[in-house]
Amino acid sequence: MKIGIILGDQLSLHLPTLGALDPDQDRLVMAELRDEATYVKHHQQKIVLIFSAMRHFAHDLEQAGWRVDYYRYGEHDFSDFASLIAGRYRDAEEIVVTQCGEYRLQHAINQDWQARSGVSIRCLDDSRFLCSPDFFQKWASGKKQLRMEFFYREMRRHTGLLMEGDEPVGGQWNFDSNNRQPYKGKTPLPPALTFERDDIDEDVLALVKEEFADHIGTLEQFQWGTTSAQAQQALDHFIEHRLPHFGDYQDAMLTGKGNTGEDTLFHSLLSPYINLGLLDPMAVCQAAEQAYFSGDAPLNAVEGFIRQIIGWREYVRGIYWLLMPDYAAENRLGNDRPLPAYYWTGETKMHCMAECFRNTIDHAYAHHIQRLMVTGNFALLLGVLPEAICQWYLEVYADAFDWVELPNTLGMVMHADGGYLGSKPYAASGSYINRMSDYCKHCQYNVKTASESESCPFNSLYWHFIHRHRKQFAGNHRMKMIYGNLNRMDTAKVDAILARAESLLADPDAL
Ligand SMILES: Cc1cc2nc3c(=O)[nH]c(=O)nc-3n(C[C@H](O)[C@H](O)[C@H](O)COP(=O)(O)OP(=O)(O)OC[C@H]3O[C@@H](n4cnc5c(N)ncnc54)[C@H](O)[C@@H]3O)c2cc1C
Ligand code: SF4
Repeated sequence: MKIGIILGDQLSLHLPTLGALDPDQDRLVMAELRDEATYVKHHQQKIVLIFSAMRHFAHDLEQAGWRVDYYRYGEHDFSDFASLIAGRYRDAEEIVVTQCGEYRLQHAINQDWQARSGVSIRCLDDSRFLCSPDFFQKWASGKKQLRMEFFYREMRRHTGLLMEGDEPVGGQWNFDSNNRQPYKGKTPLPPALTFERDDIDEDVLALVKEEFADHIGTLEQFQWGTTSAQAQQALDHFIEHRLPHFGDYQDAMLTGKGNTGEDTLFHSLLSPYINLGLLDPMAVCQAAEQAYFSGDAPLNAVEGFIRQIIGWREYVRGIYWLLMPDYAAENRLGNDRPLPAYYWTGETKMHCMAECFRNTIDHAYAHHIQRLMVTGNFALLLGVLPEAICQWYLEVYADAFDWVELPNTLGMVMHADGGYLGSKPYAASGSYINRMSDYCKHCQYNVKTASESESCPFNSLYWHFIHRHRKQFAGNHRMKMIYGNLNRMDTAKVDAILARAESLLADPDAL
């Protein structure tokens, strides 16, 4: 008998593992393991989502005729897969598994599983992605610089999404110039989608409350779907209510008023479902494309959305497998500061940061601009050790898996890899946050000034960042204007701004 191992983010009936096995002969194994649940202290909602989705998926597999050995957390003594295989499946003819999403576990599959159990392991390529690591490597090979935009065009051709022959629909590859508006309240916010909780959800909620109470987050506002049917409902809801304005307000941010939509705006909330395998990325993109063809969503929204999935999502995975394991240790800006305590407590006077932390703690979610331009930007300006901020993002979001979190944080946010995710760092002062949100109106700090005692911390820290990294970035043509501005600034003004920044850097926890 062969054994198929189904990992917690492989919850798809189209998984290659299933295609390689016979339900009449073979068995499937799924396990809630201590090592996987605790190698970082995942947000409580992330654990509920994954365990509950796994239990529901095991049920789906049984309905489809598979025999599944399911190991529930706390009801067995195996801390990792190698010990489970060695303890229970030594007699298996073969273990079949699909390539996993994390270098750490893939390394264990390659090195430990067979060594510790003596059973031969067959590891299959993960067909749930649109670009294989080999395809990416071939695309990257010989290129002086890797740029997402060119990879994205390749993926448009490869998938045929929004293409007319070899040309992009609408005559342009990218409609971002029509996007990026602040939200002024003219368009009503989309309705919330809520799901009924069943016994499986309730059991897992109780388990997590009991076992993982010291992990970040609360469970009161757990709103994630935990079945493939609920994930499909979330996709339908997005296409109908959110996609038409996705492009316009993709970069906007708004102070929350209590589950009335400000925390998510028109974002899809689909990343956890896609990452877990509950939704197929190509099917998600085709649903969005169909909304354009049927006149239900404009091209700037649909193209922008599809770019996030076949562009950014596939690109970061390609970078991850191309550059790991050395990638994880990159720190080209030489940063070494610890992460301030408010990243866990959410208690800071900076209103923008407090809002992003609240969203994170209450929902295990923050949208891209909250992650990139607020909490990420602040860590970059402060000069936080990349490992510390990477671990934080891996812990706190429901959609966080190493292959996608690491390049986004280490590369896009911290620019610690020298620029695979952006030709210049995404550093910004408070003016950006003020332009794209209502946060500054509700803040104790003054976004209009930089050097006074109540000045917005982002402002002086921004100029400190630009000043201290002159050597790395002054020659970057995309930063010429910024260094020109700094050079033209009055010396006394620069000194005052840098002095204010130094005082903040001496005690960032006080902010
Ligand atoms: C510091 C940082 C850490 C991040 N960590 C993760 C992570 O652990 N897991 C994760 O899935 N995304 C991560 N992202 C990317 C992005 O922020 C989330 O995918 C997005 O916010 C999820 O919310 P949504 O589904 O509402 O996305 P939407 O804004 O609706 O976007 C649609 C979809 O596009 C994909 N997508 C968009 N941007 C990216 C991106 N940069 N990289 C990969 N996929 C993208 C996601 O699948 C997402 O569901 C991170 C971004 C940053 C800046
Ligand atoms: S003033 Fe500065 S700290 Fe306050 S909300 Fe605006 S950007 Fe954030």
